Amino acid sequence: MSKLDILSMTQGEIENIIIEMGEPKFRAKQIYGWILKGMWGSEMRNIPASLQKKLDDVFEFRLPRVEIKLVSKIDGTIKYLFELIDGECIEAVFMRYEHGNTLCISSQVGCRMGCKFCASTLLGRVRDLLPSEMLGQIISAEKDTGERVSNVVMMGIGEPLDNYDNTVKFLRLVSQDDGLNIGLRHISVSTCGLVDRINDLANEQLPITLSISLHAYDNEVRSSIMPINNKYSIEQLLSACNSYFDKTGRRISFEYTLIAGKNDTAEGAAALARLLKKYIKGPCHVNLIPLNEVKETKLEASKNATIFKNKLISLGINATVRRKLGSDINASCGQLRRQSRENK
Ligand code: SAH
Repeated sequence: MSKLDILSMTQGEIENIIIEMGEPKFRAKQIYGWILKGMWGSEMRNIPASLQKKLDDVFEFRLPRVEIKLVSKIDGTIKYLFELIDGECIEAVFMRYEHGNTLCISSQVGCRMGCKFCASTLLGRVRDLLPSEMLGQIISAEKDTGERVSNVVMMGIGEPLDNYDNTVKFLRLVSQDDGLNIGLRHISVSTCGLVDRINDLANEQLPITLSISLHAYDNEVRSSIMPINNKYSIEQLLSACNSYFDKTGRRISFEYTLIAGKNDTAEGAAALARLLKKYIKGPCHVNLIPLNEVKETKLEASKNATIFKNKLISLGINATVRRKLGSDINASCGQLRRQSRENK
């Protein structure tokens, strides 16, 4: 019989198993407290050795292990390469902001969305992450830093909505009062735009922030850099954004990576402003991201970020340029995993 993935379970679910094992109920709470701190086996000091052994027979503890840790000398940002139980690797980035610590986590090993500018997708998708492996990235980072993570962004390796069920289960787990208790309002989920899944997510009653990776002002440009646009047009995507907003009351933010000669002209900014005004009800926010150059893609970062931003603002669209953290440690996702695979 396969073992139960304990970090994917709620305290209540663990309690049911503990009772089935003939152990007293209070053990579940003790064990749950330990696993949320990243402790297992003999580290669970108030659990008798005989029970530790029995737990090992019934459960598996899939905590991502820190394989490489890079700390930025500029701003203290930490980039982790985590090794999973089967030897696969993923990345997470720990960032310190005034409003608290944010962890950027991965949702899949690799990605199959094929965005032309992205390092995570170059080798395709290997497998989905389990809820435990998403939660485990937070637990491992907290254990390593000794600091609490108060905000989570699902902007690491993978497409969260391409691993929908596990992502939703993770969002419920991470926000539980007796769990890590990170409020859903402090969690952002970023998607390249799987329209059917955005519609599903709108019905889940999860007040997260949804970010859409738009990166283009028309279908021609978007299809040339994001294959998903051949399946769902910009118009379909923006209409799903409107119904998401209608159902949840949560405003959507748009990510726009500026790529030289692709999507970064002032006319492009004007076209983007027209597009958003035409299709999006109410005010919206565009987060401009300087391209992190990935050597395999040959795409170059734009020098027009300020011009682009100012054009959007002059046309009534709220826009900011994302502050770049950890630039000395290559903190954008997907690159460390590739390097480590090349070295193996
Ligand atoms: N699959 C999800 C989340 C992962 S990427 C999504 O597509 O949204 C998080 C953000 O970083 C996305 O907006 C993505 O398009 C962007 N991104 C990917 N590669 C990048 C790069 N090389 N430079 C800048 N942004 C990049």
